[in-house]
Amino acid sequence: MKIDILTVQPELLESPFAHSILKRAKEKKLLEVNVHNLRNWAVNEHGQVDDYQYGGGAGMVMMCEPLANAIEFLSRESQFDEIIYMTPDGCPFNQKTANRLSLKKNLLILCGHYKGIDERIRQNFITMEISIGDYVLSGGELPAAVLVDAIGRLLPGVLNDETSALFDSFQDSLLAPPVYTRPADFRSMRVPEILLSGDPKKVDEWRQEQSWLRTKARRPDLLDG
Ligand code: SAH
Repeated sequence: MKIDILTVQPELLESPFAHSILKRAKEKKLLEVNVHNLRNWAVNEHGQVDDYQYGGGAGMVMMCEPLANAIEFLSRESQFDEIIYMTPDGCPFNQKTANRLSLKKNLLILCGHYKGIDERIRQNFITMEISIGDYVLSGGELPAAVLVDAIGRLLPGVLNDETSALFDSFQDSLLAPPVYTRPADFRSMRVPEILLSGDPKKVDEWRQEQSWLRTKARRPDLLDG
């Protein structure tokens, strides 16, 4: 899979893909992430990509021209399955969307800044708008990194069996069960006996039950329907 990201702050995206699981995904050539600086398509030599908003009011708006030119340029190189704008008023991101996007081949992610981007770009170039939660961040870079991480770890071959994504929270609309590691007794706090029983069927049943109890207590909304 190839993901292109368009941003005015490429430095913010240097670290998230350089470590751990996403690094491995890149090394194994399962995931390619290309970060593009929107200022390469600036309207003048000052690197301008934003302007005052019509109607007045505080805050700059990202201009149509650099965005349209950048999207068109990148679209000549790749046939994008989705052109995604990260925005707090987009569709709330969840595991289902991550699963669905992980099946795509080419994605373009647009990171907003300031007040956001000119509405005409949203209406005519963007195919999908995603929010990572009901709060406002100062830019779309961290949201884009969240998206790429959630998608990247689902690509076949990225995670090994031990960390298989299938057993994570939300994959079956349930939260994950509690987990423990050595020692079995830590300051008199003991690991549940059943996990030490060596009986995989019992362990499995216990985990299912714990998943269900945890979901019921913390996220009953996931059990609706
Ligand atoms: N004025 C806009 C917020 C702009 S925040 C509004 O009220 O809706 C600046 C940029 O940060 C946005 O363009 C978007 O790309 C990014 N951003 C902020 N919060 C986000 C969130 N919860 N999810 C996804 N992107 C977000």
